[in-house]
Amino acid sequence: MGGDGKRKNARLFGKAGGGGIESRTPGALTAYLGVTKGTVSQTLMSLERAGLVSKTIDAADRRSVKLELTDAGRDRLRRDEIARVQAMVDAMLELDRLRLDDALRQLLKTRLELEGGRAFGLCRTCRHFAADARGPAKHHCRLLDEPLADAEADEICYEQEAA
Ligand code: SF4
Repeated sequence: MGGDGKRKNARLFGKAGGGGIESRTPGALTAYLGVTKGTVSQTLMSLERAGLVSKTIDAADRRSVKLELTDAGRDRLRRDEIARVQAMVDAMLELDRLRLDDALRQLLKTRLELEGGRAFGLCRTCRHFAADARGPAKHHCRLLDEPLADAEADEICYEQEAA
């Protein structure tokens, strides 16, 4: 089993076997995960070999096996949680960036409308800009009916109207 598989299984074990003492048995884990006993048994052997889970015989009922996460197992779960939090923070930052981008565009648009001004936007973003109309990197202005070189596409133009 690869590192990802062990991490996933340790996570499942953390959810299922990390509950009350009565639920920390292979039987409870099988019921919780809805998989076969064989799968749970194989998984537990793998986790035990990796030092993430330990099994002990219940002193009160010698037929019963109790499962525990080892320190290494707990550490693996903790690191997994940190990775999830990091992914959520990254997603939030990206969302904030997109919101900020939208807000700035809206602010600029409103300001231009209020002042009755023109955007002087980039040629490439104009609704009259026909990309590659005359061949690769050879563009055309539909409004002025003029050819445009690739470098001109990144210049501003008084006639620019946002596409
Ligand atoms: S109107 Fe100006 S910005 Fe628009 S395509 Fe023509 S040259 Fe470019």
